[in-house]
Amino acid sequence: MPDHRPPAIFIADALGLDFLNSIATPIDTPIDWIDNGDGLIAWLQQADLVATETLEALRAQAMPGELDSVAAQARSLREWFRGFVRDRKGKPLAAKDIGELGPLNRLLERDEKFMQLVSQTDPGGLAFKTTRRWRSPESLLLPIGEAMAKFVCEEDFSNVKACEGPACTLLFADHTRGHARRWCSMAMCGNRAKQAAHRNRLKAKH
Ligand SMILES: [Zn+2]
Repeated sequence: MPDHRPPAIFIADALGLDFLNSIATPIDTPIDWIDNGDGLIAWLQQADLVATETLEALRAQAMPGELDSVAAQARSLREWFRGFVRDRKGKPLAAKDIGELGPLNRLLERDEKFMQLVSQTDPGGLAFKTTRRWRSPESLLLPIGEAMAKFVCEEDFSNVKACEGPACTLLFADHTRGHARRWCSMAMCGNRAKQAAHRNRLKAKH
């Protein structure tokens, strides 16, 4: 699928946070990977949230501008969820947080999932598989909602951290032993911080 953006960032170790990281400033210029319909489709494919055939079918049936408007809905969902996560990261969620999750539950109630028996080759046999009716391009928001809901229920928010890079906006779940992760990645922010510390040491010597 043609897309001018660099590959999206998947460093969070939690898909719900990777979704928040779909806008970021990897070098100097901010990039929003879902700033239009093509971007949303490319992001969903890279996130492995929707099968390529489904994405192609929905793209083919979409009216002009329809996917762009779904991408706009995805961005507002993302920025709403960013506020929820920012306010609560660093400590476990409480039962009362359900009060703030109405927008997510409203999205989830639109889902049309069902089960099907399917044959499989490796190992050969039958499997019971969850699938979903993709009624319209708006259905593309559903797997995102599912990823966010799983993240809210399965992730310990104590492990949710913001990268310590001064200009970095990336969030991640720290699953390292000892919970010592500080950076989105060594390549992006860790090395930059090391170099800055090194320069400061040199300056201090002179
Ligand atoms: Zn960073």
